[in-house]
Amino acid sequence: MINLVNVNMTFHGKQILKDINLSVKQGEIMVIIGPSGSGKSTLLRLMIGLLKPTAGEVWIHDREITAMDEDHLNQIRLEMGMVFQYSALFDSMTVGENVAFGLRQHTTLTEQEIRQVVRRKLRMVGLSGQERAMPSELSGGMKKRVSLARAIAADPHIVLYDEPTSGLDPIMSATINRLILNTRRVIGATSVVVTHDMASAFYIADRIAMIYKGSIIAMGTLEEIKASTNPVVAKFIAGIVG
Ligand code: ADP
Ligand code: MG
Repeated sequence: MINLVNVNMTFHGKQILKDINLSVKQGEIMVIIGPSGSGKSTLLRLMIGLLKPTAGEVWIHDREITAMDEDHLNQIRLEMGMVFQYSALFDSMTVGENVAFGLRQHTTLTEQEIRQVVRRKLRMVGLSGQERAMPSELSGGMKKRVSLARAIAADPHIVLYDEPTSGLDPIMSATINRLILNTRRVIGATSVVVTHDMASAFYIADRIAMIYKGSIIAMGTLEEIKASTNPVVAKFIAGIVG
């Protein structure tokens, strides 16, 4: 479903990602772990075409997005949703307008249909009736859930999550993790979740890839990652690195 082939990314002469090869299967939840600054957010931005790699290919299904112009990329992005690290809600819009934003921009749904979708998605994330609230009135966990409702408004095939539980207390983190699993179940979305919270990774992952200084140093199921003999991986899992 998502394929990165020999992807390299350089910013201002500094190599941030090195020879990344990564395949995410349809319907899978792939969790990317790694310390701060290791290139995780950059990797997500490459997957959704917000950045173009310096070298290498990114494929979504059978289409190479690294070879696409902006018009075609916009088409592909309709099939993808992203939950950004800091929720990135539009502060001047209500919750309902935030969730409806992409639908208004990119679909031909009527206002009535849009209102129905918004209602359904807010219900899915446990925020029924919050359409008229403003983001500034919401807690961090509620903002995250609005951000998730917005990301899945158009039933995307792929959902990318950048640190969805960072800054949340353990109870809200558990709620978000359940929502990630529920989203995969309800809309069947292939999911990539960036986190440095190992508890979350262990709870939701089908497979885990660990990135360190721009390279993938381990990849596999939970059991395989736990059994890794790479000392950096072992220390990270034990909570010592990062
Ligand atoms: P992570 O999400 O794992 O914390 P990032 O992907 O955000 O890591 O960043 C990896 C490295 O790339 C960092 O050193 C960061 O400063 C650098 N970087 C990220 N985006 C840019 C950019 N747009 N321009 C220059 N450097 C960047
Ligand atoms: Mg990041």
